[in-house]
This record gives sequence, C-alpha cells and structure tokens, in this order.
Amino acid sequence: MPRQLFVTTALPYANGHFHIGHIMEYIQADIWVRHQRMQGSDVAFVCADDAHGAPIMIAAEKAGKTPQQFVADIAAGRKPYLDGFHIAFDHWHSTDAPENHALAQQIYRDLKATGLITTRTIEQFFDPAKGMFLPDRFIKGTCPKCGAKDQYGDNCEVCGAVYAPTDLIEPYSALSGAKPELRSSEHFFFTLSDPRCVAFLEQWTQDGRLQPEVANKVREWFTRDESGKAQLGDWDISRDAPYFGIEIPDAPGKYFYVWLDAPVGYLASLQHLLVKRGVDFASYMANPALEQVHFIGKDIITFHTLFWPAMLHFSRRKTPNRVYVHGFLTVNNGEKMSKSRGTGLDPLKYLSLGMNPEWLRYYLAAKLTQRVEDVDFTPDDFMARVNADLIGKYVNIASRAVKFLPGGRLSASDFGRDSAMQPTALVDLVRGHYESRDYARALREIMVFADRVNLLFDGAAPWKLVKEGGSVRAAEVCSQSLEMFKVMTACLKPVLPALAARAEAFLNIEPLDWDNAAKPMGEGHVVGTYEHLMQRVDAQQLAALFEPPPEVAGATQAAAAPASSAAAPTQTTVPSSAAPGGEPIAPTIGIDDFARIDLRIARIVSCEAVQGSTKLLRLMLDVGETDEQGQPKLRQVFSGIASAYLPEQLVGQLTVVVANLAARKMKFGVSEGMVLAASDADPAATGIHVLTPWPGAQPGMRVR
Ligand SMILES: [Zn+2]
Repeated sequence: MPRQLFVTTALPYANGHFHIGHIMEYIQADIWVRHQRMQGSDVAFVCADDAHGAPIMIAAEKAGKTPQQFVADIAAGRKPYLDGFHIAFDHWHSTDAPENHALAQQIYRDLKATGLITTRTIEQFFDPAKGMFLPDRFIKGTCPKCGAKDQYGDNCEVCGAVYAPTDLIEPYSALSGAKPELRSSEHFFFTLSDPRCVAFLEQWTQDGRLQPEVANKVREWFTRDESGKAQLGDWDISRDAPYFGIEIPDAPGKYFYVWLDAPVGYLASLQHLLVKRGVDFASYMANPALEQVHFIGKDIITFHTLFWPAMLHFSRRKTPNRVYVHGFLTVNNGEKMSKSRGTGLDPLKYLSLGMNPEWLRYYLAAKLTQRVEDVDFTPDDFMARVNADLIGKYVNIASRAVKFLPGGRLSASDFGRDSAMQPTALVDLVRGHYESRDYARALREIMVFADRVNLLFDGAAPWKLVKEGGSVRAAEVCSQSLEMFKVMTACLKPVLPALAARAEAFLNIEPLDWDNAAKPMGEGHVVGTYEHLMQRVDAQQLAALFEPPPEVAGATQAAAAPASSAAAPTQTTVPSSAAPGGEPIAPTIGIDDFARIDLRIARIVSCEAVQGSTKLLRLMLDVGETDEQGQPKLRQVFSGIASAYLPEQLVGQLTVVVANLAARKMKFGVSEGMVLAASDADPAATGIHVLTPWPGAQPGMRVR
C-alpha cells in the first residue's frame, strides 16, 4: 500500500504578494512532496489564501474594493510565482470559500457540544478616532513577556509569546496613532485552560511528533504556577462587526477571529481537491493510515501545536501527524523576512531577470536541514554553489561524456562494480535524507559522488584515449559516467524537476523514480543529442536582483534611510565588489536594445542659469539639425548640472546628447533631450562630470 499523505504549507495572508520567505517554505515542502511521489506515495498537496480579518478589510477599504474583490485580485497574482519556481500544489483555495465557512462553523458547534466554548464580557481596545474596536494587528506596543517594542496585539514576533492586546505595555492604535480606550464587549472563548485540553496537549506535543527544539519550546506552556495551573490560557476566538470573516452560529454580529478559521482552510482546500478527484472527504480522513503533515515557519508554532490540534481533537477530528517547522530566510545576514515585513530578494524580480528558478531551489535545498534554523542567502555563496557544484560537478559530466560516445550508444560499463561508486547505496542514503528533510546532507552526498565520477573521468582522460587508439576504453568510461549522471539526476530530481525532465529526455529514459534510479540504462542504450542543460549564474543578474527599486535609487541617501524600522522595507546591502561607482552594473542588454538609443554629438550654443532652480541649467544645443528653411535648429535641454558648472564654462563645448528621448515638459519649459554626464551613485560625494568627445567630432555625428 502506498503511503497516504495530506501535506500543506502555511496559508499566506492575502493582503500582499508572496515574498521570498513564502517561496522558501513552498520549495521546502515541494521537494518533500516530489520525493514522496518518487516512492509512489499518494499525496494531496494543498494550500489556500488566508482571506479574513480586519487587516484585509481595512486594506480593501483603502483600495476602494470589497474584501472579496481585494482577495481575489491577490489570488490572481499567485500563479506566476508558483509556476515560476516549479511549486506543484494540487490545489490552491481560499478560506472565504463555502467549504471553509461550513467546516469552521461545524468545528465550532462540535467544540461547543464538548463544553469547551464559553462567553465572557471583556474590555477591549476601541479607537476613538476611527470609531471601531481595534483588531489585534492594529494595536501595537511593548511585548509584556520580553519587552520588545512595536509588537502586534496578538503575538510577539521576537519571543513568540501569544497574549491579549490589553497585555501590551504602552499600546497605541496603528490606524490613527491614538491611545486606545477600553470598552466592554461579549467575546467567545475556547477554554484551552480546561484540564482536558491541558492534559491532551501536554501529551500530544511531547510524544515525538514535533522536532525536539519545537517540543521544548512548547513545553513552557505547561509549566505550573504555585496553584498547579498551567500557563496555557483560554483563547479569544470572536471579533465584533464590522469584520470580514465567518459568522459565529447563533451569535449575531460576532465573527470568528481569523486564526480560528485559517487552519480550517487546510481541510477546506483538501475537501475541494478530493471532490475534484471524485474521492469522499469523510472516508479519506477516516483512513487511519493517512498522514497529515504541515510545513510552517517558526513564527506560528503556537497556533499549529496548541490551538489547531486542540480544535481538531475536541471536535473529534484527526490531528496532524507532523508539524515541520523551519526558520526564517535572511539575506546577507540581514533582517528576517516575516510575513508582515519587507523583503530584500523579490521572487518575481528574480524570475523577470531571467534567473533560473532551479538555481534558487538548489541553493535553498543545500541549506535546509531538519532543524529550525534560519537560512541565509548570500549572493557570493549562491553563485559559488550553483556554478561550482551544480554546473561544474553535475551538469558538466553529461556534456563532457557524451562527446566520446559514437552515435550516443552506451557500451559495457563497470556499473555498480566500482567500489567508489555504489549507485544503490547513494540512492538509499539520499532518499533517507529527503525523507527526514535533511536536504543539505542529501545534496552533499550527491556532490561527493559527483566528485568521484569526475575523478574517474579525468583520470581516464577519454579525450586522450581517442587520440591514442583507445576509443573502446573511452566509450566505456563515458558510458559509466553517463550511467552515474543518470543516478545523480534521479537523486536531484525532487530539487530540480525541470532540469531532471530535460536530462531524462537527453538520456532517452522513462521518468526517474526511486525504484528505477539505480538501474543501469545498459549496454546498447542510445542516448539523445545533448542540449545545454543549465547556464551559469551571471554576476550581473545577481547584482541587478539586489539593486534598490528606482524610486529609492533616485532619492538622496538621507531620504532612503528608514524613518521607522517597522514600516520601511529592508534595504539589502550589495557586495561592494559588485558595485563599481556605488551601484551594480545593470542587467545585460542586447546590441539591439542599445541601438534604440540615439546618441549624438551636440555643441552647447548657449547656457544660462534657471530662475527658481538651484540644480538646473538651460542649454541650447546644436545637434546638426535644420528647419524647413535650412536654418540651424537648436534644441532646448534642461540639465541638473548647476552644482558642477558655471554657464560660461560650458558655452562652445561639445558634448553627447540622447537625441531620441521623448520630450519632457518641465516646470521651466520643454526639455528635448538629455546631456550625458558621469557621477557616482551619490553625486554629492564625487561631483558630476559632463562627457565631451575627442577633438574632430562634429555636431550631429552619431555615437555608437
Ligand atoms: Zn516578546
């Protein structure tokens, strides 16, 4: 019987596009799922947009949309990321879908029947300036547990504590900045402090299903005070209208807090998928062999190891078998990339620069282990790993070996008889590492193996053998190398699915899985024509990836400095070696792109200061053009070079102008071109230097 697996990643909050932290989690889970499929497991791999809550309601209002439309627009933008990075979810759903409304309400009813729902009148923060109860995420203040400043009202991103907003020290409204007032309202609670819940969770979290460091962290919730009471408190699961969410049955004006119905979205998404597959949801979930696996980040451990299993268990549902927690992704040892902060590595920009998605998959896999460790993206390390390991050690074996195989026909080889290269042992080892999510070790084993194959190949030197009459031995060595390339391709397939598909086509073999991975293609097998499998990482693309967006690049350094650490996107530092003149080289363009820019020699006929501007000079340029009467026609160009030149210094000089730049209407008149000048990224530091041609150039000549 194949294993039955229900696998999810955390539901992204639908108030913005994916950042690189989401993509890392999806890649981690996708690799695991692809490994499972290679061993024949029956997998349902699903996710959904986390659609509800006040932040989305408020963002939608600001955007002039209904919350439903706002969420639909975000959902419509998901596909390019998922397809782009080869993340193969079976289904992507929304927590606002009908299945989720029905499931969340049913789970609530079941919990209520178990006696674990209670109501209590609580004091809650009300924003007097906005006239509404403030959602947790819109109250900020100092964490009552660790003292971290500017933490949200529901949990602390620094220490992970979960608390009520009223526990915050020095709270303020993030909507208006006003000091919130306390007002009363009736709220619904899931009584996690009930001894039944405490006993269940204490056992469930410590029975080996969680990573040891996660189990240790969660254990804190069960430490008893002097009266013998665990720290675990009741969970406030209701919010007052206006709220975008799911109505609480028989409680008009009350909605489920978004964190109650968000994880239910795992089940709703699965249910939708199973209906599409013609499988009955209830019997699927009733299968005792079904393994339910959640991949999540370390910031949402409490929701997934306390609230979610308790909700499921006490509504008499199956609880997760595994909750796999990963750390954050940092860039250049920089700020962590959490759900609500900015990012330094824009995944869509990565793709739009033409960077290979499998470079990133490989690099992240090479750093991911089964532990809850942060993963750091370092551009130099990224380039070295991909170019040296992936291209230098693995891809190159195929391109080198196929050259000395006449007709691509494999000859007899030493497959499996070489003590240094045991394909079956490698496959078993790598498979085990994928199973335990130790991708870093899996890839290390594969690269050690690749080193041995290259050693064999270089030692035998088939390029020499063919010249010295040893073509038979050369073909044997190359056949052996291609057999080993095939084994390594299978081992890399969960990480590099697209590359593996191209390699399978080249090798002319059936899709690789764990069963056929170590079987030889065999003597007489004919491989196809080799086509280049993968490019090297281009340093210029990498530099362009971390170039700040144009509006930041154009601003002065002072304006780019973050005013508030919470609101400003993190600026990633670019390695100085990649940034001559203070900024990285722009992405590569073709000669055709350059040819579209018409550069001409121009004579500065006159030049004057501009009234009302300290930056601009007004230049009249002769670019060799004439009007209908044959009279010289001058162009007016405004140039921001007043800090560097006096007008009289420029009159009579030759320079270079962009002659086909669209005319631009400025405050002081129309500018019909642009004069070229050199400067550092920070012009204030090193000055501005207008370009001037060597003697002999004449106005109107094209610069090419
Ligand atoms: Zn804290």
